This record gives sequence, structure tokens and C-alpha cells, in this order.
Amino acid sequence: MQHPPVANLIESLLAPLLAKCGRLPGSALRYSPIGEFHHGPCRYQLPRFVFRGAPGGGDTIRLGLFASIHGDERETALALRDFLLTLADDPAPAQGYELYAYPVCNPSGYEDRTRHSRAGLDLNREFWRGSAQPEVQLLERELGMHGFHGLIALHADDTCDGCYAYVRGATLTEALARPALEAASQFLPLAQGEMIDGFPARDGVITRCPEGVLSNPADPSPSPAPFEIIFETPQKAPAQAQSAAAVAALQSILRGYRPLLAFGENL
Ligand SMILES: [Zn+2]
Repeated sequence: MQHPPVANLIESLLAPLLAKCGRLPGSALRYSPIGEFHHGPCRYQLPRFVFRGAPGGGDTIRLGLFASIHGDERETALALRDFLLTLADDPAPAQGYELYAYPVCNPSGYEDRTRHSRAGLDLNREFWRGSAQPEVQLLERELGMHGFHGLIALHADDTCDGCYAYVRGATLTEALARPALEAASQFLPLAQGEMIDGFPARDGVITRCPEGVLSNPADPSPSPAPFEIIFETPQKAPAQAQSAAAVAALQSILRGYRPLLAFGENL
């Protein structure tokens, strides 16, 4: 099998999505990469797609969707791309939402197929700690600027044989994550056991997280409190199955959040 040259990897990943940009009614899908930075002689931008659903009758809900902050988890970039492609074909699930999607949060690691960026750092331990890493600074700027109602970060874990999720932020987060895992379980098993990835877990849900992960700024705290879900697929499973599981989870979260938000506001 022929592999594309390294410099074209990200381009070929995004090509099917770029082909849809500007072709959908109302310019629903836009490509607007952010920043410009270097690792040695190589110049990078962070790819960003914005998918704007039809108006939903209330305030627009902004979600931030992130993949491959660990560069060796390429499956997650594929999954986020596939999710946007499904919306391009059928935008109904995005009604009322504005989705900011960052499919390759660690471009140099993606190219090198390494967890770390080319600076040798795990970017997912650098957030809100005064990091000098350009990828982290750019994403922190986005997080600060857009005031997302919710964040979903996709990861792939090669030490686990099932899907699981970390939940943080709003109390309703677990009520979103459980149906999302249920939806994913059509395609891949859920992780079992009382400990997953070194943390106590209950039915595939973990409520603690390492410090420095991609998350909302602690201050100022937006209202309503945003939800934060880290969705993990078993990396040894076929990439297509991981993508299908992640797409099902993301669609479940879109379906579930609006009613939960309305319910929360009426409390
Ligand atoms: Zn990861």
C-alpha cells in the first residue's frame, strides 16, 4: 500500500471535507484555520472547521470539538472528519448549534505519529498553565473567545479494549455521556472494570481527570456551566469502527444537550 508523503497527510485527511466547504446551502461549513507557527523549518496552522446548523428557535449553542491533540491518535481526526461529513449530508442534527471543530490539534505529532508534539511535550498536560506551546496558546485563545457551552475531545487508548469517557464541568455532563457511550456501543464494546486508565470508573465513566488537559478556562466561569467530555475509543479496534462509535457518540450528545439545557434553565 502506498502512503502519501508526510507533508500531504493532513491535506489528504481533510480533502473530502474541504471539497464540501462553500458547497452547502448558507455556507454551513467553513474552513478557517487558525494561527501560524513553526517546528524547525516546518510551518503549521491549526485546521478549524465551523459548521453552522439552521436556527433552532433559541440561542445558538456553541460546541468545541477537538481531535488528535495526541498526534498518534489519528483515528480521532478521521472520526471528527467523518462526523462533519455526515452533517454535510444531513445537517438536521446540527439545528440550533454552531460547531467549532479542530480535527488536528497537534499537527506535528500527527505527521510524526507521536503522542507528543515535535517540541517533545504532551500538549494535553499544558492547558491553563502558562504554556509557551503555540498549539496550546492558539486553542486557549479559541476557548477563551468562543465561550463554548460544551467541549468534546476525542482520544484513542491503546491500553483499553472498550470505549469510555471522562466527564467534567456541568453536573448534566454524565447525563450526556452515558447515552453517548450507549450509542457508541452499537459499534464497539464499552470498557469494563472499576479502574480505567488508572482512574476509578463506573460503567465506562470516569469523573476525575489529569491536570492540564484541554478544558475551559476556570475563570471567568460561564453560565450555564459548560459540559466537558473526553471520549475514548479502543485504539486497537479498526479505525472505521472507532470512527462509527465516535460519530454515534457525538450525534447522541447533539440530540441530548438541548433538552437537558432547557430543563436545567427551568430549575
Ligand atoms: Zn489521547
